[in-house]
Amino acid sequence: MRFKWVPAFFEKLGRLVRSIRFKIVLWFTVILAIILCAFSGFLYYSQSSNLQAEAIRELNRRITGVVDNVQTILATGGEQISIPKGILLDTDVFTLVGPTGQVVTSQGPIAPSQVIQIASAGLQTTPRTNESPAFYWTSPTGQNYVFIITPVQNQSGINYLLIFGGILDPNALIRRFLLTLVLGSLLTIAVALAGGFWLADRAMRPVKTITQAARTIGETDLSRRINSKSKDELGELANTFDAMLARLQAAFERQRQFVADASHELRTPLTIVNLETSRAIASRRSPQEYKHALSIIHSENDFMTSLVNDLLTLARMDAGQTTIEKKDLDLSDVVVDTLERLTPLATRNEVTLEAGNLPETHILGDRQYLLQMLSNLVENAIKYTTGENKQVCVETGASDGSAWVRVSDNGPGIAAEHIPHLFDRFYRVDKARTREPGTDGDGNSPSGSGLGLSIVQWIAQVHEGKVMVESKPGNGTTFEVRFNRG
Ligand code: ADP
Repeated sequence: MRFKWVPAFFEKLGRLVRSIRFKIVLWFTVILAIILCAFSGFLYYSQSSNLQAEAIRELNRRITGVVDNVQTILATGGEQISIPKGILLDTDVFTLVGPTGQVVTSQGPIAPSQVIQIASAGLQTTPRTNESPAFYWTSPTGQNYVFIITPVQNQSGINYLLIFGGILDPNALIRRFLLTLVLGSLLTIAVALAGGFWLADRAMRPVKTITQAARTIGETDLSRRINSKSKDELGELANTFDAMLARLQAAFERQRQFVADASHELRTPLTIVNLETSRAIASRRSPQEYKHALSIIHSENDFMTSLVNDLLTLARMDAGQTTIEKKDLDLSDVVVDTLERLTPLATRNEVTLEAGNLPETHILGDRQYLLQMLSNLVENAIKYTTGENKQVCVETGASDGSAWVRVSDNGPGIAAEHIPHLFDRFYRVDKARTREPGTDGDGNSPSGSGLGLSIVQWIAQVHEGKVMVESKPGNGTTFEVRFNRG
């Protein structure tokens, strides 16, 4: 009970470790640490020898100052030789030895007798070639001294010997330098880590917004958008996400419309069948009346069968469940087959169905689907052609690298405002969606479900083809499907 927070803490930690933010900062810090190490190493090695040389140069500068001071005092015949504090440090040792070896003056933390000892020991070990012999000496406390012995002359040419010692500890300087480098690097890495986290957090904030927005979008509420104003990569991602939502919403809307239209289409024939059967069984009827009722039911059944078939075809097309097997075929053969199949319908509708020019026109296609496509077009032409001397003509041909098939009729034509919508599902020029049964005396209505041309367009598209319509009201209609033969 007391450690309830432990799993929550580990979960939070795990989430942080898995986050892009953490990975970016980690990589960034590792790279920075490597660069800093390399840079500090280079600085350390290049500067450590410089520091040593610089320390000796500094000591020499101070000796020159001390020598100048002593010479000035000796030249003016001064008795009291004392080097000012500014020139001599507390740790410096300064001893002036007279011509007879007596100590003239001495300053510093080491006793003059010891200085003389150090100097004579140093002189023995230092090569004679040096003008001003310099040698190292380590004090019992571990201080590294360098001693320099320089001759100085007074006014009357009497030689004095100046012994000067100063602490020379380049190692301490180098150690301090190393410490500065390490501390500086650690501080830089700490600042980079904190700054990196802050930056990564800021940069990732739009992702959080997108995630939250995506979480609130339900499957039925596709109208919500992220509407990101930023112009960077994440803004682009949000816009792409919005565009995807718009497409999904449109598809969802189409699907809903499709289902609503399909239900609506089925409701009318079902109502008619229901009405006819209720009327027929309500009381005793004459055989003619029964026949009439049955023919209406039969016609409605035909309509529903063809509607359900069309719906099934479209549903399969949408789901990508259709298998198109393309083979080399002659379009004129398909036309001949279609004409054969539809001649009885044409005869019944008193339409002259004729074959125009039908040269051999080869394309790669699926015979079954092309038959369906042509049947839909020719059936429409037969169905919608009215008046005297009704004619429907089908022809094929090839030009400019493409093959075509044309279905023309001399029917009433289609008004221009309807043409852009002809291929929409359930679109019918005749806006009255309620069909009147038995309009042609046989229970057949000229209007269909409004799905035929959508199927035609889909079949044309899967064959790399395009459907074109040319129509003038009163002057007939021509549908042309053009296939690209590559
Ligand atoms: P339907 O099943 O209603 O025939 P289609 O998608 O095949 O559906 O056709 C859509 C509409 O286009 C039809 O309702 C009809 O009004 C019009 N149409 C199609 N072909 C012709 C044609 N040859 N002549 C006149 N109108 C036509």
